[in-house]
Amino acid sequence: MISMLTTTTQMECQRVRDIRERQKHRIIEVRVLRRWISRGKKEELCYQLVDVFGDCIEAVAEVKHVKHFDSVIQLQCCYRVSGYICTGPRTYMATVDHKASLVFGQKARFDPLPNPNIPIIYFNFATYETLKTRIKDSRILTDYIGRVKKNAMRSTGTGKDLRKTRLQDDKGNEVEITLWPDACNLIGDDVVPGDIVAICSTSVSEYKGLLQLESTHLTTVVLNPDMPETVEYVHRLRALPPMSSTETQDKKVTILDLQLIGQENIQIPRNFICEAQIKEIHEDRGWFYVHCSKCSSKLYPELDNGELNFVCRDDDDIIPIFRYSVNATIEDATGSAEAVFFNESMQALLNISCKDMVTKHADATNPRNVPHQLMSAIDKQSLLHLTVKNDGKIVINSASKVASTTSYQSTGNKTGITPFTPTTPAPKSGTSKRQLEESPGQDKKMKRA
Ligand SMILES: [Zn+2]
Repeated sequence: MISMLTTTTQMECQRVRDIRERQKHRIIEVRVLRRWISRGKKEELCYQLVDVFGDCIEAVAEVKHVKHFDSVIQLQCCYRVSGYICTGPRTYMATVDHKASLVFGQKARFDPLPNPNIPIIYFNFATYETLKTRIKDSRILTDYIGRVKKNAMRSTGTGKDLRKTRLQDDKGNEVEITLWPDACNLIGDDVVPGDIVAICSTSVSEYKGLLQLESTHLTTVVLNPDMPETVEYVHRLRALPPMSSTETQDKKVTILDLQLIGQENIQIPRNFICEAQIKEIHEDRGWFYVHCSKCSSKLYPELDNGELNFVCRDDDDIIPIFRYSVNATIEDATGSAEAVFFNESMQALLNISCKDMVTKHADATNPRNVPHQLMSAIDKQSLLHLTVKNDGKIVINSASKVASTTSYQSTGNKTGITPFTPTTPAPKSGTSKRQLEESPGQDKKMKRA
């Protein structure tokens, strides 16, 4: 496509790639790819702009003029832009690696471009090797592409959901994506080993020797991308040798294995699969909790003219979020163990959301009163995807019925004790908190672009 661009007007334009700080503005022809309000010391209205050559630059404007800019700049539209100022790059969570950025004020002009041949997306994929140089670097966010090896929901220490997706690059190097609760649905449960994930605007960290890409409020995901910008990457990833099922699944263990693992002094949480059933639900510990959609705090039941509401001590206009948290004994032929079933796993076993279970079948004011519909989860043989935490506690992340996964049985580890390899690193609570304080991303619509 790019060869068609040498029209006269485009030749007169400034190339985005060549813009430098303090330079006088010349016309650029760009598409507006993203718009967001930056956080950090100062709120700014930010844009990501790309030109016909696929080069990208960021622009900022004052938040107080957001109405004006929203009226003249539409996302995904193209403009001939002039009257801007060229300054240095943004230095906190930049989405683009450029030596300069633009400042839009009242003098900036945006003339719509009718039929531009400008890319609709921008990637600047980091290589595995460069990721190491970006650990804890908050100046620039990181784009990455890889082939999915594993993909599963996990629970944080406080029972919220996050997603861990293991990616391989074209040389087989592995990194792990951690999508914090606000972003955990950017990759769905339908994403399976072999799929290709392009992820934008993550921050790089390291945990126990494994590089991690953590979601930010700007993170977007494209599943199995097929745009011109990704063809070469996808081609190389598709050429990787196929993965064996043992590579893509957590190790299958018995309850006896879990008991022994729990007694070891394990340093990091480990993930396993176990075929077991619930023997008993511990009613005295409660089976659900309700938290605030704004601040995540526990909500209190309140009667208003006979109608039951859930209220936050700090916020008004909230939505109560109902989540399962069921303490139970699980068992198989080798023994029994205590475990906590968090929301995803319980919903999978019961086929009903916690909210529906509470509002249709239970006493919403008393989480210790277990409805018989929930008791129906007992005695169902299930494939449990679980984490053994550092303290030996077992958390059930997800569950599926055994009938649909009989292939596991033939490969099951019936004899038990073999060396276990470390798997998913634990989320760091500090980062989790930071993520929760940020509002959900506004750019998530690219998820299935
Ligand atoms: Zn609240």
